[in-house]
Amino acid sequence: MKKKNLVSRRSTLKGLTMAGAFAFLKPGLASSVEASEDKMGCGDMVGNSEVRKTIFNKVAQTPLVDTHEHLVEEKLRVNPGKGDLDDWTLLLKQYFDSEVSSAGMGQKDYDKFFSADYDPIRKWQILKPYWRFVKNTGYGRAVRITFKRLYDVDDLNDITIAKIQNSYEKTRKKGFYKYILKDICNIHSCQVNSLSSLITESAQPELLMQDLSILDMILSPGSEKLSKPAGIKVKNLSDWHKVIDWWFGRYARYAVAIKSQHAYYRDIDYERVSQQEAEGAFRKTISKQQVTAQEKKLLEDHIFWYAVDKASANNLPVKLHTGYYAGHNYMTLARVVKNPASAAQLCKLGPDKKFVFMHICYPYYEQIITVAKHFSNAYIDMCWAWIINPVAAKDFLKKYIVAAPANKVLTFGGDYLCVEPVIGHAAIARMGISLALSELVEDGFITLSDAMELIDPIMHENAKTIFNIEQKQKVVMKGGWA
Ligand SMILES: [Zn+2]
Repeated sequence: MKKKNLVSRRSTLKGLTMAGAFAFLKPGLASSVEASEDKMGCGDMVGNSEVRKTIFNKVAQTPLVDTHEHLVEEKLRVNPGKGDLDDWTLLLKQYFDSEVSSAGMGQKDYDKFFSADYDPIRKWQILKPYWRFVKNTGYGRAVRITFKRLYDVDDLNDITIAKIQNSYEKTRKKGFYKYILKDICNIHSCQVNSLSSLITESAQPELLMQDLSILDMILSPGSEKLSKPAGIKVKNLSDWHKVIDWWFGRYARYAVAIKSQHAYYRDIDYERVSQQEAEGAFRKTISKQQVTAQEKKLLEDHIFWYAVDKASANNLPVKLHTGYYAGHNYMTLARVVKNPASAAQLCKLGPDKKFVFMHICYPYYEQIITVAKHFSNAYIDMCWAWIINPVAAKDFLKKYIVAAPANKVLTFGGDYLCVEPVIGHAAIARMGISLALSELVEDGFITLSDAMELIDPIMHENAKTIFNIEQKQKVVMKGGWA
């Protein structure tokens, strides 16, 4: 064990109280030093070994690069549009809403619960029958930790609901993104995949860095949404190439990556298809003629690789959704199971491309580890995974570390539209990272020194290297979105 690689206990604790160090563990512990040592559960979970204290402290104070969010611009939260949902239930509107639907909340209650017009305090009565069944899932925990850290509320109940609503209103004001992401979460920067446009010209571009979405390039050939800004009239596939070229020409220098969640629609088994092979399907599509499933696939495969080639020419990694689907009552698991094999095939077909497979391909994370182990151009991103299944995410990280190169794993992305629950998600991630490393040390697979050496790379340094973050930040800071 090299001594210089060991961060001494004294230095890890420097500038950090024990309460601060353990605050991410459990709602209710943020303000109590004693709490981290009493029987509230934290002590049992963390243990009192030097190994755990050393690792947990270092992880608590290490910044995270957040490689995946869908955050809307802050101004849209501060000044919501007429009819936009703007009460405490907004924090539950993504992910947790699916859990509660899966638990049995019917559509009528769902609509009322997330209505902009229904009394925010009375909404609790709709959720109440389900709450105890969903509050311990990753989605539930993320929200609860957020309520604790942000609003100082331990749990949802008849009494606390008014305080939650009141605190929600008080928090949502100019500057709250920076307060939450930087001051509370210690996040270096986020990577936003806009769901309303291909890319957002953010007002805070160094904090909310951007992916360039290629989804509509593939899904909506000929669409005016893309061709109009480019000023190109699309008559054939070459014109569509020009439209794609325009988007890359305009935004590649600002973007950190390209992103596609096309895996919600089909498998990611894209084959190399020539322009000639795809031309017929393209013309049929833009003239609204019926295309066969085979023609559709040819066209999508062609456009996918066209965009991926553009990305690699611009030194942009390719982020692909893999694994589990957000939402409820529609997932085709028989298709999701194919993702790891298709991911391996992509790496083979594009050896000069950097593929980032998102969400650990949950639940097929063991399979996706083999892809990162085998292919030098495969990277795995744990974004979203800590709240899909926190225990599986920890298991993934332990297995990844002892199986595949640690410079190709990314450990955090909140995957939220709303900024507030990033707090809970980041807390669960820090806890999971700490536990994964501690358990590997305790089981004798790695030393404490090895574990300490991994923390900076997996939490922020890998992301900075893979996405060229510091250089990209300089570009947006220098010229804005010129
Ligand atoms: Zn996402």
